[in-house]
Order: sequence, then structure tokens, then C-alpha cells
Amino acid sequence: MSLRATASAPEYWSEDAVALCSDLIRLDGQLGSSDERAGAEYVATLLDGLGIESELVESAPRRSSLVARVAGANPELDPLLIHMHLDVVPADASEWSVHPLSGEVTDDFVWGRGAVDMKNMAASVLTVLKHRVSTGRLPRRPLVLAFLADEENAGVLGAEWLVRERPDLFEGCRTAIGEGGGWSLWTSPEQRIYPVHNAEKGWAAIQVTAHGAPGHASRINDQNPIRVLAEAIGRLTSDRFPVHLTEGVESLLRVACDVHGLSFDPERPEEALPLLGFDATQIRSGLQHTAHPTRTSAGYQSNVVPSVATAELDCRYLPGRWEEFEAELHAALGDQVEVEVLARTLGLTPGRRNAENGVWSAASTALQAEDPTALVAPFMTSGGTDATHLERLGIECFGFSPVLLPPDLDFWALFHGVDERIPSQSLRFASRVLDRFLDSY
Ligand SMILES: [Zn+2]
Repeated sequence: MSLRATASAPEYWSEDAVALCSDLIRLDGQLGSSDERAGAEYVATLLDGLGIESELVESAPRRSSLVARVAGANPELDPLLIHMHLDVVPADASEWSVHPLSGEVTDDFVWGRGAVDMKNMAASVLTVLKHRVSTGRLPRRPLVLAFLADEENAGVLGAEWLVRERPDLFEGCRTAIGEGGGWSLWTSPEQRIYPVHNAEKGWAAIQVTAHGAPGHASRINDQNPIRVLAEAIGRLTSDRFPVHLTEGVESLLRVACDVHGLSFDPERPEEALPLLGFDATQIRSGLQHTAHPTRTSAGYQSNVVPSVATAELDCRYLPGRWEEFEAELHAALGDQVEVEVLARTLGLTPGRRNAENGVWSAASTALQAEDPTALVAPFMTSGGTDATHLERLGIECFGFSPVLLPPDLDFWALFHGVDERIPSQSLRFASRVLDRFLDSY
């Protein structure tokens, strides 16, 4: 099946997005071993060539974010913030088919770390700007473009820092688009749903500590803290957290049921998940709180029982329901361990969904012009984005980064995954959709 979604003539200008995405992938922004300076300077140079001034801001040496303002046809309108991040999670080259920083273009894909998270969107936005400048077309409203640092570390040195230290950079913005929504979810060859989100789960890093009786490992010891800890975190299975249906997941599941001519049962929302194909696992995470042990630490010698054992949990809670999550977490962990919240974001509570904000209709119009089967569905993402910080400035944030996928590609498995790649066709598609969006929103 062809990935081409529209019968309209190809627009060769959108080809630039492929080369740009490849370039951006080669600029190493892996957290832990590199930084965002090279990416920020590359974008600044490109914008400068288009006559667009930008400001490079550093929260720490070489931890660079770049912000630029672009004029709109109607300067009276409040500017649209488009936020993207320049950092990526690390990749282990030995696990990959190509080098993760190669930006290789083969088999009609651009390969490399950041291909879907989220140098793809940066490449498409820059392609649209290049085209608009060369053809003298201003976007309908002014734009604020933010290429941010440190998103993969909860935005501490990026969006969170900028919102606190440089809110002036976002002055006037009331609406933003960024990553996390806008991909094509195949329900049938005749219908693709594009989930666009304005709600996000909150995130918390939580430390669990077990204390016990240290001593020689040859002795009977029922207070071994490693065993106590293991039993506690071993109970954090997904079935320990009940299903809670929230507005964002319900709206997406209802659209999927409508497409298939089925009725939606709010008492059993999980029964609709198989309609979502590859995306079922991702959307399933939005039906409950989750807590995953991601690090453990204990002991120093194999024949010594230590006095303490710790684990770190990555927790994702439904927005606005922290107390409920804490109660479920404590019930699962039991009372033999101490629990400490190390860090936490609030997530994104649904904004004025479908009300006066024109993002939904502009996204629909832009998508349908390029994919006549497109149906936009509001949803809540179980991932976190910089929106959680930007919302504090009173900006209503949407996840809208258009992606057109072939039906056999598990998109969400590519995020932070091995062999991350984006179809070249999708980069062209995203450029054309965003271009249309900037005319109508
Ligand atoms: Zn991302």
C-alpha cells in the first residue's frame, strides 16, 4: 500500500525536510555525553540566513536553548508558540542497524536518534519557514519558535528554567503546539485517526527504601532489606493499579469505536483498545496510574547482608489525581518500606477542549487537505513534554506534530528505541500539514 495520502501534486519544497532532519540527527544532543550547543547554533545560522533573529540562551555551559520570533500577517493576533527540543536520549550504537548519529537516508526512512523524538518536527518547521520566506508568505499570526534543551531530563535546564528565568521570551503567547500528538493511527484503510492532545499524565521520581538487619550472609536473616525491597517493588504490576477512565482517553476510544460502528462501553474501556492496533499499549497506559522500578541499589560484598536497599520508581499519574495515585502506590508497596518523592511534574490537565481555541479545527483542516481520511481525536498522552512547564505561563498547550505512518510500523516503539527512524514521506507530509496549519490558525 502506498503511504501517499493525497492525490494532489507533490510539493518538492517539502523535500528539504528530509535533508534537514538528517543534518539535525548528526548534531549530537545525547544527554549525558553531549549538549544542545551544536544543534542550537545550526538552527540559529539557518534562521539568520532567512533573516530571522534568534536568541541563544544557556542555563548552564553549552546547555543551549534557542528562541526566535517570526512576524505574522496579522500582528494583532497573539503569537503561536511552537516548541521543540534539541536534546535526545542516549543510544548504544552496538544495538543499531545504522550508527544512531548517522542520519542515514535509506529505504525511504531517515534513521537515527531523534528521528521521531523530535528532530522530525524541528526539520519540518524549519522547512516550512524556508519555503515561506522564499515565497514571501507570512504565517497568519506571529510565531515564537523555541528549540529547547534538556527535555529528556524533565526540562530542568530547558523549559522549566526558561519559564522561571526568561518568561519574557514567551510574552504574548496563549497557545502552543509541540510533540506527542498528531500521528496517524490506522484504524482501517479508509480511515486514519490523528490524536491531538491537550492533556498529559504527570510524572514523579520516587525512591523506595527498605531498612534491615546487616550481618554475615551465612546466618538466618529474615530482615534482609534486599528481600523486603524486592517483595515491595515486585507488587508494582500493572494489575495493581485499577482502570480510571479520563476524558482524554475516552474521547479517543469513542472515535475509534465510531469508526468501526461499535458502541463504547465506559465500564469496560479496555475492550476498545484492540481497535487501536500498535497504539493500544500506548493508550492503555492512559487508563491507569503506573509505577515502574527503573534503578536499584544495595550491598557492597556478596557475603555481607547490607542494612539498606533502595529502588527508584518512574511513576506516571493521571493529571489532577495525585492523592489517588499515592494511595494506590502505598497499598501496593505495603508498610515495610519508606517512600520519598524525589521530583514531580504536574502533567497537563485538559484545557478548554473544543471550545474557543481554534487549534482543533485548524489541525483538522490542515490534516484533511493532505489526508482526506483524517479524523482528529482529542486525547491524553501518557508521556510528558515541556508543555507541563509552559502551561505555567498560561499557555494552552497541544501535542500536534503531524506524522504519517505506514500501517505496519510500531511508532511508539521507536521512541527512545533501537533503530529510531521516520519515513521520509512523513517529513514531507508534516511540512505540508504545518504549512497549511500556519495559514488557518
Ligand atoms: Zn520528545
